[in-house]
Amino acid sequence: MAVSVSYDENHRLILSGLECDCACEHRVPDQDIYVGEDILPNLPKYISKRGLGKNCVLVCDKNTFKVAGERTNRILTDAGINVIMCLIKRDGDLDPDERSVGEVLLSIQPETEFIVAVGSGSITDTCRVNAARTGLPFVSVGTAPSMDGYTSAVAPLIFKGLKIHRQGPCPEIICCDTKIMATAPDWMIAAGVGDVLGKFIAKADWKIGSIINDEVYCPTCGQIVTDAVNRLIDNVQEIKAKTPKGIQILIEGLLLAGMTVLIIGHTRAVASVEHNIAHFWDMSELSLGHRAPCHGESVGIGTMMVWPMFVRFADEDLSKIDFGKLKSNRMNREQRVQWMHSTWGKENGDTIMMENPGDFLTWEEQERRVRRAQQRFPEIQAVIRELPPFEKIRDTLLTLNAPMTAADMGISDEVRNISIHCAKDYRTRYTLFKLLDECGLLKEYLSDYPIDL
Ligand SMILES: [Zn+2]
Ligand SMILES: [Zn+2]
Repeated sequence: MAVSVSYDENHRLILSGLECDCACEHRVPDQDIYVGEDILPNLPKYISKRGLGKNCVLVCDKNTFKVAGERTNRILTDAGINVIMCLIKRDGDLDPDERSVGEVLLSIQPETEFIVAVGSGSITDTCRVNAARTGLPFVSVGTAPSMDGYTSAVAPLIFKGLKIHRQGPCPEIICCDTKIMATAPDWMIAAGVGDVLGKFIAKADWKIGSIINDEVYCPTCGQIVTDAVNRLIDNVQEIKAKTPKGIQILIEGLLLAGMTVLIIGHTRAVASVEHNIAHFWDMSELSLGHRAPCHGESVGIGTMMVWPMFVRFADEDLSKIDFGKLKSNRMNREQRVQWMHSTWGKENGDTIMMENPGDFLTWEEQERRVRRAQQRFPEIQAVIRELPPFEKIRDTLLTLNAPMTAADMGISDEVRNISIHCAKDYRTRYTLFKLLDECGLLKEYLSDYPIDL
């Protein structure tokens, strides 16, 4: 049965057709997710339906205060809910760092029963980690369709100037009022689209992982993401014009992609090598004392950088692989450690290697994978040929005036080039880039991105 999305009379999103006979364990998400025009006044009703209580801390920054925070405060107060306002003031934009997290923590009182996050990525993640530490449930009032993290269970944060990740709960209630979201600046809309476009790559890599390593691929989650991203491409003009329909399609795409994480418990359907590139840029910029670049913008550009490698691989001739040469050109363990240090930096490189111990392959395993790719190459070709034409991705981002290159985002050529070479090394998760490396083809494929390490 095909997955379908519908809404009940209260604008609560209902996903049906989740039955699936793949070997993944599936969970039906029990969060209440509401999407609709002018639904913010219903928030007290949503909260009482879940029995969250009468005492909350409402978190916003000066932008989201104007857009929705002030009004949310009034709506909740009028409904008899006691609100402690935690308005995080910064000269520029807010970062999800120890200072922001601390401000929320110190606003929480013994009687606080839940947290309300009014914002997008940074505020939601700041609240998520507080919800995790205090055990309080939290509610998200989304203000921009700019990233897919509303339904996430991981908070990317900044601690002592470094990017870290902390586990945290998904909000119990997510309220996406499309009227509020339509006030988000154009660049945030474009960023949300960039984040969704990356899902094409994530899906292709997941399928390649299933071909090479017998990884379990969930067709239901794959379909959820594909449908969402196709709908988005087909309606880019509506999205650009920020019509209710366009905003609804975009936020639905972001929420549905995020929901696959709740369904199967991992991020395979939503993040791959394009996200690793974005992550590398975050770390490089932070280490230079700059702000982390906008996530969705980085993902959109990362997607455009890796896409041509997929297209090219579909026409590859794997029969010409010289196994003797491949074996003698392998990096030994020492060389690999050195490579990880010189690309990701010593500290990050060591952490990545510790977290992904299976990433240094024996020759036997490398040979097995390459032979598998040779045997089942038509299946890999089919995966790649399922991708829409590259021009569609590029034109979608162009239409939205998104930044199109790393340079547009202030990322140096050096950082860009290193990031595409080492994106394969960020986690064990299988990717085309890992396969290219194992086949001895990666350097040649990346010759437009010279590095000097
Ligand atoms: Zn993302
Ligand atoms: Zn499944």
